[in-house]
Amino acid sequence: MPDPPRTVLRMDDQAEDGVTTATAPLVDSFGRVHSDLRISLTDRCSLRCTYCMPEQGNVWLSRDSILTSDEVVAVARVAADAGVTKVRLTGGEPLLRADLADLVRGIAALRSDGRPLEVTLTTNGIGLADRIDELVAAGLSRLNISIDSVRRDRFTALTKRDRLADVLAGIRAAAASGLRPLKLNAVAMRDVNDDELVDLVQLALDVDAEMRFIEQMPLDVGHAWDRSTMLTRDEILSALRARWDLTPVPGRGGSPAERWWLDGGPRTVGVIASVTAPFCGTCNRLRLTADGQLRSCLFGHDELSVIEALRGSSDSSQRDAGVDAVLRACVAGKRAGHGIDDLSFVQPTRGMNAIGG
Ligand code: SAM
Ligand code: SF4
Repeated sequence: MPDPPRTVLRMDDQAEDGVTTATAPLVDSFGRVHSDLRISLTDRCSLRCTYCMPEQGNVWLSRDSILTSDEVVAVARVAADAGVTKVRLTGGEPLLRADLADLVRGIAALRSDGRPLEVTLTTNGIGLADRIDELVAAGLSRLNISIDSVRRDRFTALTKRDRLADVLAGIRAAAASGLRPLKLNAVAMRDVNDDELVDLVQLALDVDAEMRFIEQMPLDVGHAWDRSTMLTRDEILSALRARWDLTPVPGRGGSPAERWWLDGGPRTVGVIASVTAPFCGTCNRLRLTADGQLRSCLFGHDELSVIEALRGSSDSSQRDAGVDAVLRACVAGKRAGHGIDDLSFVQPTRGMNAIGG
């Protein structure tokens, strides 16, 4: 087993003000180096996807517990100093944040080991068409848009909102923006959208995007997930093989998605099989909730408070040291795997909308 993480200053890295800020990388006790920070900006949403949150009765995070854009950028800066190279903004629905472009601008201006941070967005696409230009100008690197059905009645039943046209407008705007690779995400569900997997891939091909199917995970607020009825990676692949010849794309690295060439390429499709083919061994991700709690795993229960470190001191170096300590403690406590196959597994209390997907 590798040595436990150490906090050492690399004296060759300098911040703009000349103060040495780079710190040791975030390595956990299994040797996994953490370079990817997912930040949830809100638990609220313009949709109510059945696998994520209920239509009514949601208990929202209080407004004053939500991190401000300055606080989010402050955490991203400390994380960048510790080797984080990529930040994904998510939610809930990140487009509900009026200050989203400011956030993107603030994070895109950060450097990790001398290179600009990659800032990506996961969104349901509603309202994106009106905001894509300001997001691109602010420095957004690329984006993922979620769409589970291209049939209006089905989309409405699944999300409890008649907004398919808005999502499609968002996808078209993203395609026109030129940001690539553009990815579309769909949760594949038995007897819900399993008969339109080919149509979803075709939509992605039409807009120069990659379709990625996600196995449904036990992260719904209502705790209604049932493993025995979920659509598996193998079933998704077999539905796609009826239409395309699939050959594996090599070089997956730490990516959650396995990818295949369609009919020999160059177009591709991806599958994120968190349940039947977990990829915990290469996980390089940390997650910050909208109310400032740091998590090392989607499926875990452990959270460490970053908001206390942020709001506990008016001295910026003390604040940064506090955030850095929380990042390191979180990584040090990370478990080997999500354990959802263990008999002892208990679904997290927070739903996906409050953790950040
Ligand atoms: N609202 C944005 C969106 O839908 O893209 C960002 C947040 S959403 C929680 C991020 C991703 O998580 C989406 O692609 C969504 O489909 C996925 N997701 C939500 N609940 C899920 C679940 N129970 N299992 C698998 N994926 C889920
Ligand atoms: Fe909203 Fe995304 Fe959850 Fe759907 S998956 S309810 S769009 S946060």
